[in-house]
Amino acid sequence: MRDYYEILGVSKDAAQDEIKKAYRKVAMKYHPDRNPDNEEAESSFKEAAEAYSVLSDRDKRARFDQFGHQGLNNQGFSGGGFSNMEDIFSSFGDIFGGSGFGDFFGGRSRQQPRGSDLKIEIPLTLEEITKGVTRTVKIKRMENCSQCSGSGAKPGSTPMRCSTCQGSGEVRRVQNSFLGQIVNVQPCHSCHGSGELIQNPCSHCRGEGRIRELATASFDVPPGVSTGNYMTRSGEGNRGPKGSSPGNLMIYFQEKEHPVFVRDGNDLLIDAWIQYPHAVFGASIEVPTVVGKVKLKIPSGIKSGQVLRIRGKGLPELNSHRTGDLLVRINIDTPQKLDSTAKKLMQALSEELPQEPDFRKFR
Ligand SMILES: [Zn+2]
Ligand SMILES: [Zn+2]
Repeated sequence: MRDYYEILGVSKDAAQDEIKKAYRKVAMKYHPDRNPDNEEAESSFKEAAEAYSVLSDRDKRARFDQFGHQGLNNQGFSGGGFSNMEDIFSSFGDIFGGSGFGDFFGGRSRQQPRGSDLKIEIPLTLEEITKGVTRTVKIKRMENCSQCSGSGAKPGSTPMRCSTCQGSGEVRRVQNSFLGQIVNVQPCHSCHGSGELIQNPCSHCRGEGRIRELATASFDVPPGVSTGNYMTRSGEGNRGPKGSSPGNLMIYFQEKEHPVFVRDGNDLLIDAWIQYPHAVFGASIEVPTVVGKVKLKIPSGIKSGQVLRIRGKGLPELNSHRTGDLLVRINIDTPQKLDSTAKKLMQALSEELPQEPDFRKFR
């Protein structure tokens, strides 16, 4: 795969404006309206759209800068590959629809009906985030009507060609201005852009061609995700009306609070409360991790508030082989109740140690 910066012909530190300008230039050059039936131009057009979709998105660009194509394609995080032209027009409508482009790109397929995106939120425990997990969820989704196979017409009947737009789905209006002719393309209001009129609507879906049903979606959650991360499953959103292309399914992750661990990036934090003699002499303790226990040696003379780091026992980093650390903050516990032996020893110790505190500057 070619470097995205190279495709758009910009430098690695190009500003957003520059990237947008560069993309327009390349897109104009290879636009299908200017290169009819030219497969090479089409693939260059798609390539430029993919490059732009990454470089115009701050997160994706940062991932690409750091990990290259690998950082985008791993584990279901889409790098923004476009399977068809309609996707490109619907994604960058603002660029193509802007002044100066309207004549070229005005209206095109981006105004065709399409199913809406579906958003779901997936709560995950730290255990699931550590190992990754396969989830199967039920979602209410607009599906193709089984009775009319999505056409919206009563089985046995066929839809009629719309006479307003002659089946094209769009209406063009030409206005004369002092700048010349302005062509305004809008979806046909009679058929709402489908190009067809249904005289005998399917009774199951009332002519819409789709119906809300309970559907199942299954996907792998990669290890290391955090709240706010999401995956896009292209084409798994709502079906569009009358069999038009479906929207996407957006899966947002939500981390559940853990009873003992606090997350800090890929590191985990935990407090350990130890007894005074163990702080004095040192001790070997067992510390819980998300997936079992590990041994930790507390050095003698440790002070309250000191933090010990256990390498590699935190959370895996998304899309990498690195793992965070487990940070254990040591606190010295003051016992509330003591049995008689401990009490006697403690009293003896108390008499043995200095009675006056050591005063130091407040920190
Ligand atoms: Zn139907
Ligand atoms: Zn029409």
